[in-house]
Amino acid sequence: MSTKHPHESGRSLIAGATGDWEIVIGLEVHAQVTSDAKLFSGSPTAFGAEPNSQVSLVDAAMPGMLPVINQYCVEQAVRTGLGLNAQINTYSVFDRKNYFYPDLPQGYQISQFKHPIVGEGEVIVDLDDGTSVTIGIERLHLEQDAGKSVHDMHPSQSFVDLNRSGVALMEIVSKPDMRSSAEADAYVRKLRAIVRYLGTCDGNMEQGSMRADVNVSVRRPGAPLGTRCEIKNVNSLRFMVQAIEYEARRQIDILEDGGEIDQETRLFDTKSGTTRTMRSKEEAHDYRYFPDPDLLPLEFTQDWVDEIAKGLPELPDAKKQRFMREFGLSQYDAEVLVAERDISEFFEIVAENRDAKVACNWVTSDLFGALNKAGKDISDSPISAKQLGDLIDLINDQTISGRIAKQVFDIMFESSADPGQIVEEKGLKQVTDTAAIESAVDEIINANSDKVAQVKEKPKMIGWFVGQVMQATGGKANPQAVNQILKEKLGVE
Ligand code: ADP
Ligand code: MG
Repeated sequence: MSTKHPHESGRSLIAGATGDWEIVIGLEVHAQVTSDAKLFSGSPTAFGAEPNSQVSLVDAAMPGMLPVINQYCVEQAVRTGLGLNAQINTYSVFDRKNYFYPDLPQGYQISQFKHPIVGEGEVIVDLDDGTSVTIGIERLHLEQDAGKSVHDMHPSQSFVDLNRSGVALMEIVSKPDMRSSAEADAYVRKLRAIVRYLGTCDGNMEQGSMRADVNVSVRRPGAPLGTRCEIKNVNSLRFMVQAIEYEARRQIDILEDGGEIDQETRLFDTKSGTTRTMRSKEEAHDYRYFPDPDLLPLEFTQDWVDEIAKGLPELPDAKKQRFMREFGLSQYDAEVLVAERDISEFFEIVAENRDAKVACNWVTSDLFGALNKAGKDISDSPISAKQLGDLIDLINDQTISGRIAKQVFDIMFESSADPGQIVEEKGLKQVTDTAAIESAVDEIINANSDKVAQVKEKPKMIGWFVGQVMQATGGKANPQAVNQILKEKLGVE
């Protein structure tokens, strides 16, 4: 079991039998570039197509085929670099990374090695306890994806699907700056939010458009970095957290037993929640990188970069600050709302000309709760932002009470109908007509003379009367009017 407790930097340590350890994590995130065409060919990239239906002669590495760089993918990488507050290199080089694999017909991957398109940057990562840490970015480079070997379609044969061959990836390499699985989790979430805001990667981990190689080492606080192990191709946040926890514990146990960590590449087994050796350092590949002779170095002007920078959307950090400033929201509320671009845009429509805190509550409590239960995303919410805003207006102009509004909300979620129409059809309009309320009050008072006597002694008992009147009016009476009329008639303050 790990116990977390703060030390001087306020970041977590994990307890071992012989004292505290610090986990050190660095991530290499592969993010598929949002682009209709591949990095060096015009083939389409849509997910889920028939196997081998999106493969050009270049992607299949037919002899004599030449790659042609896709300018849009370059632009997307620059945009992402800007979003990571990173150095953009106007000169970069594509190298061949040589290895053999059946799903890699070229016999090499075109990648970037010594001269990546994006250099150092940083990402501010917000943690659940309200603090934040800055995680350094080492580099971002462009490379091609490989195809996919399919082993489960036939008892004795394997197949290769080259649809993914040549699709543009950005490899985003962090510095070893994370100190817990929670920080790694928050970092990937933030990265995903940034690329989604930018529209440079859809961040869809289930479809493999974002996956991470997870480097983990442990050390005594203040000691030099320990030997790391790299866990390959982790494709969900939950698995990443499990892999880090397991791997750190494994390394701590070895070190506390007087052993040493072998630098190696490991695989995470999702069934057992453990990691196992894939290859050790001795078996590590020598990729024999060299500049790809089919491609010139990639050069563009700073003016072009500046032009791209001008077109960037508002990113999560800036939006969070604006939500706090303009709407007076708490840091926590603002962080929840900007975590996804879709949510922030939904919220802004609901909040327009309305109380922002009220709008925030409806979105983050009621709507999120209902979406969660239904297993839906905000993008397929049965209630539109405009409809939710209309519902809040109905409360504000006293057409319905807050309590009835919850019922209307549920019906909206079921039917996608407009709140006004639901209120009309179901006769849910609040009764503000004092005559109607008065007659309900009179009936209750007449039928409960014992309670009327008691309420003079115990004014708190008025709550009971309010409840009765609300029940008698099907929850539609205006609660303020009910209170006021009751007080007058019962003679309590
Ligand atoms: P490689 O290309 O061989 O994987 P890199 O030097 O590019 O090696 O490092 C890859 C990742 O490993 C980076 O994200 C880096 O932050 C991380 N890393 C480097 N040293 C450590 C360490 N001691 N513990 C944890 N992560 C590390
Ligand atoms: Mg690596």
